[in-house]
Amino acid sequence: MIKFDMDKCNGCRICVKVCPQGVIGMIDKKAYMMDYESCMECGACRLNCEPNAIRLTKGTGCLTAIIKEDILKIAPKNTGCGCSCG
Ligand code: SF4
Ligand code: SF4
Repeated sequence: MIKFDMDKCNGCRICVKVCPQGVIGMIDKKAYMMDYESCMECGACRLNCEPNAIRLTKGTGCLTAIIKEDILKIAPKNTGCGCSCG
């Protein structure tokens, strides 16, 4: 399940652009979910939301997003994969 925090959303539309399913829309400059059934919970929107306005809870596919987030904690963006491969 995915939820948007309307107070944190700044209307940047990044989530709309990165969503591979095209299921995020905008109303009054705030993001909202247009089609919960089609969301594959990949986590792309959450990972790219600067103000951290998107929450993913456990459901089909969201494990991928959680794992990705954990990997980014170990290996922040632009610092490689976190192992010693360089
Ligand atoms: S990326 Fe975050 S801040 Fe930007 S529109 Fe989407 S939910 Fe709002
Ligand atoms: S989790 Fe993936 S499919 Fe679902 S709304 Fe976010 S970017 Fe789109």
